[in-house]
Amino acid sequence: MKTYRHIFFDLDRTLWDFEKNSAETLLSIHEEFSLGEQIPDQDLFIVKYNYFNDHLWDEFKAGTIKKAELRVRRFELLLAYFDIRDEELVSKISRFYLNTNPLKKELIPGAKETLEYLHGKYELYVISNGFYDVQLTKLISSGISKYIRKTFTSDRIGIAKPKPGIYNYALSSVNARKAESVMVGDDAVNDVHGAHYAKIDQVYFNRNGIPSRIPPTWEITNLLQLKEIF
Ligand SMILES: [Mg+2]
Repeated sequence: MKTYRHIFFDLDRTLWDFEKNSAETLLSIHEEFSLGEQIPDQDLFIVKYNYFNDHLWDEFKAGTIKKAELRVRRFELLLAYFDIRDEELVSKISRFYLNTNPLKKELIPGAKETLEYLHGKYELYVISNGFYDVQLTKLISSGISKYIRKTFTSDRIGIAKPKPGIYNYALSSVNARKAESVMVGDDAVNDVHGAHYAKIDQVYFNRNGIPSRIPPTWEITNLLQLKEIF
């Protein structure tokens, strides 16, 4: 068995509970902007947001829209679904979401316990396709920034997962040898295939039972299983 020294984590949906935090933010929006009368069903508000957001993310990944456009458009479509057409409200809500969401604290079950266990035995880092300031805010608000030695994001490095370049950049900047490094993440393509092509071992945190085309070095369904691997 290999001796690992460096563990690289994905952040959203691997440590930070993106779905729960986003739902909380949407509930705050529903209240803050007094949408109760026009949109009585809060669950539907969240379900429809996720629907439009997912579609726009697919378009973003395909390169047909820019991120700035996605951030406004998802709320434009959401409000239009409920027959609200108000450009100013859309832009206020979009800003509120971006400012509030990273302040939410929900972590994936077992995240804190696992980081506490690994911290001190290994050097821990984050590699994320998010924005640096946003991801750092999430780490701080959720109370896990103390475990993470360094955070690498695609916006700062200029290369996004699954491109091996982001992995190579992160490893060399902390002098981590590939044979002593491992990537942990919930996305088969970005985290498993990306690390595989960068010749780094991978732990696939397979939360939704989606098989990876490339078999990962390790596969887990619960973060606490990391304590058995490391
Ligand atoms: Mg993720």
